[in-house]
Amino acid sequence: MAIDASLIEADANKQNSTPKVDWDVSQIASADAPRAVREYLDTLDEAAFGAASEVQPKFTSHSDPASQWTAARKGPAFFSYSDNYLIDTDHGVIVDVEATRSIRQAEVGSTKAMLDRVKARFGLHPERLIADTAYGTGPMLGWLVERKIAPHIPVFDKSGRSDGTWSRADFEWDAENDQYVCPEGQALKQFRRNYSDPNRGPTSEGRAKYRALKLTCQACPSKQHCCPNADARSVTREEHEDARQVARDIARTEQDAVSMKQRKKVEMLFAHLKRILGLGRLRLRGPCGANDEFLLAATAQNLRKLAKILPAPQEPRNA
Ligand code: SF4
Repeated sequence: MAIDASLIEADANKQNSTPKVDWDVSQIASADAPRAVREYLDTLDEAAFGAASEVQPKFTSHSDPASQWTAARKGPAFFSYSDNYLIDTDHGVIVDVEATRSIRQAEVGSTKAMLDRVKARFGLHPERLIADTAYGTGPMLGWLVERKIAPHIPVFDKSGRSDGTWSRADFEWDAENDQYVCPEGQALKQFRRNYSDPNRGPTSEGRAKYRALKLTCQACPSKQHCCPNADARSVTREEHEDARQVARDIARTEQDAVSMKQRKKVEMLFAHLKRILGLGRLRLRGPCGANDEFLLAATAQNLRKLAKILPAPQEPRNA
């Protein structure tokens, strides 16, 4: 299966919106508020909407407050919803759809909701999931690997360095000895002796720090490439590093090159949705309105697809 999200413009305008400094939810919480506004209030705690991020949007629409003011893709900003598709890569059939707020956390979170749903409804459990880097965060990769779904997803890794010094990827992980090995063959360890303090070790976010010995680094000929401004080099290991490594190992396989081509099938469905079916802007408001329109459009796309895949029924012969 493959997953992706696309922005669809909401039926909302900036003229009818409030900047975040003036926004006050309590002022709109009345029984006679429009349906889209009541839906917005109902979804404030949902992972796909209000709970997706604590960051307040720059503007909030009065007519459709659940839509997200977004300037994604470096274009002009507008109010939008995200249309999330989970597709079967063999035939390009959409197996699930979900409307979310246009925030990366909400889009990525919809992956879990859709994979759980297709398993419960259709008994479908993909062997692998293909997606772009936005889905390659540690927790997402960990969730997939735990469910035995191979992540054909580029790892979202911010550990790269721009100053030319060696980054974490240049250090080899030695799982057996719980250590990193630097390019000079020296060990970076979390502990070098036994501590009785149980608070030592990974932080509450599961991040562990591995350090080289100061004496070794001071005498190292590669210090300028490694840690020019520190006494000794340290490397952090995130909680889901094992799952990230699974994704990195998959990225080196031939199958991954095939998967990256298959990912284009979702993008083509979004292009078809906007250019051929003309769903560039929603007509309905609120999370339910967006969900209904996305579901109907995906159904139309699936019917077209299935008509091509399934052979036409035979005409009964005249007796
Ligand atoms: S500076 Fe230290 S960690 Fe870096 S390559 Fe040299 S010995 Fe290894």
